[in-house]
Amino acid sequence: MSQTKFLLEESQMPRAWYNIQADLPKALPPVLHPGTLQPIGPADLEPLFPMDLIMQEVSTEREIEIPEPVREIYRLWRPAPLYRAHRLEKALGTPAKIFYKYEGVSPAGSHKPNTAVPQAFYNAAAGVKRLTTETGAGQWGTSLSFAGNIFGLEVLVFQVRVSFDQKPYRRAVMETYGARCLPSPSNETEYGRRVLAERPDHPGSLGIAISEAVELAAQRADTKYALGSVLNHVLMHQTIIGLESMQQMEMADAWPDVVVGCTGGGSNFAGIAFPFIGHALRGGARSRIVAVEPAACPSLTRGKYAYDFGDTGHMTPLTKMHTLGSQFTPPGFHAGGLRYHGMAPLVSHLKELGEIEAVAYTQGQCFEAGVLFARAEGIVPAPEANHAVKGAIEEALRCKREGKAETILFNLCGHGHFDMTAYQKYFAGELRDEAYDEKELAMALSGLPSVPEAA
Ligand SMILES: *Cc1c(COP(=O)(O)O)cnc(C)c1O
Repeated sequence: MSQTKFLLEESQMPRAWYNIQADLPKALPPVLHPGTLQPIGPADLEPLFPMDLIMQEVSTEREIEIPEPVREIYRLWRPAPLYRAHRLEKALGTPAKIFYKYEGVSPAGSHKPNTAVPQAFYNAAAGVKRLTTETGAGQWGTSLSFAGNIFGLEVLVFQVRVSFDQKPYRRAVMETYGARCLPSPSNETEYGRRVLAERPDHPGSLGIAISEAVELAAQRADTKYALGSVLNHVLMHQTIIGLESMQQMEMADAWPDVVVGCTGGGSNFAGIAFPFIGHALRGGARSRIVAVEPAACPSLTRGKYAYDFGDTGHMTPLTKMHTLGSQFTPPGFHAGGLRYHGMAPLVSHLKELGEIEAVAYTQGQCFEAGVLFARAEGIVPAPEANHAVKGAIEEALRCKREGKAETILFNLCGHGHFDMTAYQKYFAGELRDEAYDEKELAMALSGLPSVPEAA
């Protein structure tokens, strides 16, 4: 029997993150000021982020050193293991070799601490006292609460109302780390009060929670905002996933023909994929790169590549991305981390350049794949991660049909221990595949801000 686990020594943990902006064949379209429609500069972002993170956002240097205090915290769970899924391969009867990188070993149970820790570090170093943020399913709020506590920062989390009500354990974890957690829309912000006045029982959305967190951060000099996905620096912090995976694939004497990840805002996908894309852009072996998204919130496969706001209250700058429209409310489904109207500008740009493929699956298809995976490999994936599992299984079944022994690598971005209600519903046959409302999508897309072509 060949090897199952590929483990790196602490001393082999990468010393720098990889910045794909250094290798892009065509630069990213500029970020625009929503009023003037002119490109914004670093100073425009200063009310929200510390300068170190802003400089990472716009940097075109290939490698950015990971500060030692961040590496010290990373070592609590990194390097993360890479597994060969022998038993899944057997269950599928595929000639393909399937590998997965497991990010569920972090204290929060997902990849998100990879960026929460450096974000808290750079904010604390800049003298910031308090961070505001939003959380949908709760993974990001948990991760920032953990990281903020380590670096002595107060953390205020706006949790989307439905998730606040449905996932009391997530909130309990955030409070254990010392954070304050409020349901969004809330009465603590002007925007929240406006939304509640229109609809007192509003279930909330990520776009609304972002508006609330941004509003508070913009008001106080000692308070900044932290985002768990989408932004360039966030995606860059996640590249430690792919950089470690490259070393581990070499240990396994293999190289992926296909790399698969799930996409909400794009960060864990970028984390595993960008180092491989960069390798190919610099003339190395090329892997197919597949993004898997939910059919109920299909920004990459059904959205428009256009300038849009990152939030519902229109307080953020405009970025060019695949978007379903900032007013689009996706139907309820059990992968809260994937319910966002937009996609990371870097992931969108690479999709337009033809470096990335995208597919969408329903939650029923993804839970079926996740249960098959759990029974073969033992780990119960997060509902978001089930999308990556489904994508990898589809590739393995294609290899079986075509009689090809390809190598598949996917990112198992988190475990599902806080999501067992969703699994219970799946087993009870109560998980419905909600389609989004085509009319609402058309309306949300018709409301995109108009930006002249040249931009
Ligand atoms: C937040 C989250 C996601 C979605 O965010 P990305 O930025 O697309 O990675 C996916 N999986 C898990 C486990 C998450 O916590």
